Amino acid sequence: MSQEIRVALAGNPNSGKTTIFNALTGSRQHVGNYPGVTVEKRTGTFDISDTRVHVTDLPGTYSLSSYSPEEVVAQRELVDAIPDVMVVVVDSTTLKRSLVLLAQIMQTGDRIVLCLNMADEARTAGQKLDKPALETLLGFPVVETVGHKGQGISELKDAILKASQLERTPSRLVLGERLDTALAAITFHIAKTDIPKATHPWHAVKLLLDDPLYVDRLMEKKGPGKRAVQQAALERKKLEDLCGEDISLFVTQRYYGFVDGLLRETLLRSAHIDTRALSDRIDAFVVNKVAGIPVFLLVMYAIFWLTFTVGEYPMEWIEDLFAWSGDAINGAWPEGKLDVLRSLIVDGILAGVGGVVVFLPNIILLFLGLAVLEDTGYMARAAFLTDRLMHRFGLHGRSFIPMITGFGCTIPGIMATRTMENEKDRLTTMLVLPLMSCGARLPIWMLLIPAFFPPEHRASMLFGIYAIGIVLAFLLALLLRSTLLRGEEAPFVMELPPYRVPTMRSVVGRIIDRSGAYLKKAGTIILAISMLMWVLTSYPKPPEVVDVPAEQQPSALEYSIAGRIGKFIEPAIAPLGFDWKIGVATLGAFAAKEVFVSQLGVIYAMDDFDEDDDEDIGTLRDALARDYTPLVGFSLMLFLLIATPCMATVAITRREAGSWKWAFLQFFGLTAIAWVISFAFFQIGSLLL
Ligand code: GDP
Ligand code: MG
Repeated sequence: MSQEIRVALAGNPNSGKTTIFNALTGSRQHVGNYPGVTVEKRTGTFDISDTRVHVTDLPGTYSLSSYSPEEVVAQRELVDAIPDVMVVVVDSTTLKRSLVLLAQIMQTGDRIVLCLNMADEARTAGQKLDKPALETLLGFPVVETVGHKGQGISELKDAILKASQLERTPSRLVLGERLDTALAAITFHIAKTDIPKATHPWHAVKLLLDDPLYVDRLMEKKGPGKRAVQQAALERKKLEDLCGEDISLFVTQRYYGFVDGLLRETLLRSAHIDTRALSDRIDAFVVNKVAGIPVFLLVMYAIFWLTFTVGEYPMEWIEDLFAWSGDAINGAWPEGKLDVLRSLIVDGILAGVGGVVVFLPNIILLFLGLAVLEDTGYMARAAFLTDRLMHRFGLHGRSFIPMITGFGCTIPGIMATRTMENEKDRLTTMLVLPLMSCGARLPIWMLLIPAFFPPEHRASMLFGIYAIGIVLAFLLALLLRSTLLRGEEAPFVMELPPYRVPTMRSVVGRIIDRSGAYLKKAGTIILAISMLMWVLTSYPKPPEVVDVPAEQQPSALEYSIAGRIGKFIEPAIAPLGFDWKIGVATLGAFAAKEVFVSQLGVIYAMDDFDEDDDEDIGTLRDALARDYTPLVGFSLMLFLLIATPCMATVAITRREAGSWKWAFLQFFGLTAIAWVISFAFFQIGSLLL
């Protein structure tokens, strides 16, 4: 490549930035039909003629302010990183609101390409725009796209290349004489400092608005920087006296004024947006005070039901395949040779990894359901519906998205809390997030529920365990908000995106990502731990005691290291109904939740081998049903739902919360709560049954 350029994508939440990013770079980032899906910037590349283009997908923002962490990320990239070209992605059906961000970016001195996305919806709605006139007025390329169908993407690439060759010219943004004069007066001083792009009015706007990020930065520059800050204070006072209104209101209105003028010149026919009308009609039923929540519960129940009933068939095929492979290896293995290796492969690797892989179909189904709900825009409604309820518990609508994300995996859920402006809101959400039953816990439920409960109750049990997690999360949030994290909550207005038909590409793409990640985990961390577990359950071998009948020989499993560790912790977990085997598997779950399943797989495979009896105990599920009661089974489910977030969660909480204190509180707090709840459940249950 003879040259390289850097491009950043900016835009309002839900304008289709990530879709455009994926279409440009051919990657598959998470797209969702609700605001706030992308919280960290992501990068990718594409080539055009002999230029390599590096693209960054920024978190969505409505404006260039620096209140929430995601806005800070966007802002840093927009203003400080100085990309060669800034692509501003707007939703064509909401031009008036979307173009305010464009106006702000025009002040930063970037070369811009305006990408009018969702052109399909605007067209259907009957909107007509004079694109050539818009290009002339703005002075940079304008491209219409339909992101998820890939329409307009090659034009967009051409426009990016073209824009990168333009001069960085002063923008044609006009904000009214008074404001423009004030900005010029402030910029006069800023231009004498060495901050990047000092001559563009953006810094002046931020000083005028008294943004601490910018004020601090200029104060560091001493002389001229300090004078710029003083000048800004002067201009602010002057403008406020003159107009009798708050300066930020005044500035915002000037931006809207610019957008209004622009649209008056270029909008040939304004839209009569009927995707909205249809959405409103659906919403009359779905976002209904009475029916809303029951409909939501029903929808979720249907997904869990599908996960079970449809998932059962492919699950059995995979199970059979692994059982068959184990038998085949056992059968073909030369008698008495390298028995250790045979045991490692069959009882360690196949039993451990196989135990986890069999649940792949269920993972696929659950995420298919969630992906469809997200992409249609239904999840945003669910957030809206539960907002009032969540307020009572000191959470709010903004917590909903991280929490839904947490059903997939706690880690991105915790990252998604970055959209929250209020630090206490954010910490509360982060701390209770592990209670959202993540994808890694699904295999546990898929193993335990059929082992202990009859088919007609299985979907309800699955639904129930998720529900218990959510209810506990709410209660715990309430507790935190009224003790450690007491304080005001930030107001939040959730806007509802229009309903959209989910695209095959997005849904399938996400399922492939999920399954890939699941299999990768099975092939790496689960594989490694299964092998370790095999060693721990195989060694040391008990000494051969002569003169003692076979039944009184010490069991090899109990004699092994794993057995001893299990026996050691048994007293602590016996009151919950657990024995040492469960104890060992539960310890393993700290590494990754699925490990619980693979551990039990290995333990039982070893047990089977060890006793050398010919009666087949069948699947792991049958073995569990034989050894434990449903009461123990449910006590165990409660414990695994609540206790010990996995290693990676502890690490990410520490990083995002900024101190070990919160990570420890989360870890030990949840474990203690789990113990108490399982204890109470098991003891009371034992009395009653
Ligand atoms: P972001 O928040 O800006 O990153 O937006 P996303 O890329 O996550 O997209 C939001 C939603 O809009 C998704 O459901 C996309 O499938 C959908 N979408 C993206 N581009 C278009 C488009 O051009 N037309 C239509 N009808 N939908 C689109
Ligand atoms: Mg995005």
